[in-house]
Amino acid sequence: MVEQRNIKPAALTRLQEIANDPYGCLADLRKRKRIIGSTLADVPEELIHAAGLHPFLILGTNNPIRHSAALLPDNSCSLARSNLELVVGYQSAFFDGFVLSQVCDTTQHLGDIWKRKFPDHYFENFLTPRQVARPSARAWYAEECRRLRGALEQYAGRAITDAALRESFALYNENRALLRRLYAIKREAPALMTNREFFDAVKAGFFMDRGEHNELVQAVVQWAEQTKDHQASANGYFRVICVGIVVEPPALYDMIDEVKGTIVADNLCTASRYIFYDVETKGDPAEALADRHLRKPYFTPINEDVRRIYADLISLCRDNNGEAIFYVHIKYCESQDYDLPDIKAAMRTEGIPFLELETEYQTTHLAQLKTRLQAFCESLFTKGAQGGVR
Ligand code: SF4
Repeated sequence: MVEQRNIKPAALTRLQEIANDPYGCLADLRKRKRIIGSTLADVPEELIHAAGLHPFLILGTNNPIRHSAALLPDNSCSLARSNLELVVGYQSAFFDGFVLSQVCDTTQHLGDIWKRKFPDHYFENFLTPRQVARPSARAWYAEECRRLRGALEQYAGRAITDAALRESFALYNENRALLRRLYAIKREAPALMTNREFFDAVKAGFFMDRGEHNELVQAVVQWAEQTKDHQASANGYFRVICVGIVVEPPALYDMIDEVKGTIVADNLCTASRYIFYDVETKGDPAEALADRHLRKPYFTPINEDVRRIYADLISLCRDNNGEAIFYVHIKYCESQDYDLPDIKAAMRTEGIPFLELETEYQTTHLAQLKTRLQAFCESLFTKGAQGGVR
């Protein structure tokens, strides 16, 4: 009976299919709209949507790097190299234009290379303020939104009205609210859905028409609401805080599922940083977008104060009764490289079990990581909170 109740809905299966192969759905969308790819993090997709264009998040490729090696040095992070590889080597035909966010030195250089590589495509840089405590940060972000709005209007050949923007805000707010609700249910009933299923459901939205994504997520939320009481037991699971920028390759989620870790909170650009907080639908749209930007959880290149990088993680862990932090470290991410020593020292002082998982998009041999993860979990449960920092 219980097994029957936990039959996964078709909507969840569909979301996973799209998350793992988004180009089928993009081919259909491209018949209706021009596709604008943007990179992580914090490009206000609502502006692209309100211009009648389709925003698509470029999230790299796990396929081998063949073309971008000639354009970016090998010690650039694999997120940047894989993003460029995806577009140059594999999927260039799908994109009409790009909005690239600059959040670090790598993304700054990437923007220059990208622009030269695609002279026939629409291209904008989006300059996100990195020190968000500065009084100028809010005004800067709002001004960037106004500039991007004007540039998109020119490209799309139509005005982006405030009414159209508010409709887009409402659509995206609905999407974020549904995903937050699903996350809350997953937290309450860890046996209901795996980490991979939940984060795939979020990821599908980066590529799909937002209204269609809302419909599918709504169906999953309905199923989850009806089923959660039968799956509420947290027995056998331990509570993980997942930290980083992206979790790649996605098989990492499967590994966490295998050791029965349930992710209860995160600060990933591809999860909480994406779905937390709504945009106010009244008032000046650019100011409303800036307000949301300043309320978002921090991530490594965008913060208020260097101490917040670890102080926030400690709060995230304590507030969610986390039993361990898994820190996904993208190899050669310069921002994470700077922060990691301080974060590790702070976790050691606080006695929070902390595991660093260093990966690249192209990591295919996960056996070593799996062994480290299993060894960490064994020590966590044999020594209690003395699992240590690794
Ligand atoms: S923040 Fe890190 S992962 Fe992101 S583009 Fe910069 S170096 Fe790469």
